[in-house]
Amino acid sequence: MDTLAKIELLGEAARYDLCDPCSIRPTEITRWLHSVTQANGHHMTLFKVLQTNICEKDCAYCVNRSGRDTPRTSFSPEELARLFDTLYRRRLAEGLFLSSGICKNPDFAMERMIATVEILRQRYGFEGYVHLKILPGASEAAIEKAILLAQRVSLNLEAPSSKRLALLAPSKAFHKDLLTPLLTANRLRYRLAPKVSLTSQFVVGAAEESDQELLQTSAWLYRQLRLARVYYSAFQPIPDTPLEGHPPTPLQRERRLYQASFLLRDYGFLPEELVFDEKGNLPLLQDPKLAWALAHPERFPIEVNTASLEELLRIPGIGPKAAQKIIRRRRQGTLRSLDHLGLAPASLQRVAPFILLTGKRPPLQLSLWKTAFLNASMNPSAFYVPATRPA
Ligand code: SF4
Repeated sequence: MDTLAKIELLGEAARYDLCDPCSIRPTEITRWLHSVTQANGHHMTLFKVLQTNICEKDCAYCVNRSGRDTPRTSFSPEELARLFDTLYRRRLAEGLFLSSGICKNPDFAMERMIATVEILRQRYGFEGYVHLKILPGASEAAIEKAILLAQRVSLNLEAPSSKRLALLAPSKAFHKDLLTPLLTANRLRYRLAPKVSLTSQFVVGAAEESDQELLQTSAWLYRQLRLARVYYSAFQPIPDTPLEGHPPTPLQRERRLYQASFLLRDYGFLPEELVFDEKGNLPLLQDPKLAWALAHPERFPIEVNTASLEELLRIPGIGPKAAQKIIRRRRQGTLRSLDHLGLAPASLQRVAPFILLTGKRPPLQLSLWKTAFLNASMNPSAFYVPATRPA
């Protein structure tokens, strides 16, 4: 198989692994280069690829599962390093995202990924961004090498518990193959390379797991391991797999999980504070923060001139950057009108119904209410906002 055919096959197979924040959109140049936006706002083009799609595991959702009738191929470390170096020198790719099927055993597969990056670093002098996957069941020695070579490492938990994982990937042991290597990666990165970030990923909707289960495990990962990001991948059935007849997961569910996940990571929310339906799922038609605010009228309105950072972050339409901006503006003078907040019009529409400015509600146009409660699945008039904060 020639290099171009390998890229097509292994680049396509790599798309199920999610990477840096924001949307991952194939550029116009090729299908296997991906524009990503990092947490610091820096835009980068990543070459996302598998070392091999040969895999000994039989995960029920996976395009690469053993026994599935699909062409198989591998890059040698030299071949893949040379290919990336060519893309880099032609300014087509700035960073590498490298994953792999488990060929022979986890450490054998990881050794080939590590060898690829070692060649890039040592022979080609590449000092840029590398995201390396840690494969399920990898040894401490392999994880250590990966951490010393990459800017980011990740290991996909796939499911929020061993019970759910058994439905998705019966040949993987949740604690031994997934959680233990993730904990090891976390321990080693703090000891060896504190700047290396760590992420994980779940498949959503294939194991009948609830959003509540996913978010409880996510909260634990953020709290205990300080993960940079938890990714959610809405399940899409793949032909010739045991789950080919399982319905796809709506992308809106994935979107709500990301919104709720940011509330846990950046806004100080606890998973038990989020609003779930009787099945433990987030409302699909409502932003999770708005759902929480509507369920807690006793917390509003909030006086923007005196609110703490924590209180500001509870107001729908105000994120961490907007909260900091409001605090900076407060130092320059009293905020008396919506214009003084310095927020985008779309944010103002969401903020207005929940705040006070010098003890007064901002003038509330009907259009603001309509936008704020759009998709709220409840009558806005049922949400009573008292004129002043209760004593
Ligand atoms: S171990 Fe990874 S590549 Fe292999 S079948 Fe499972 S999800 Fe797919």
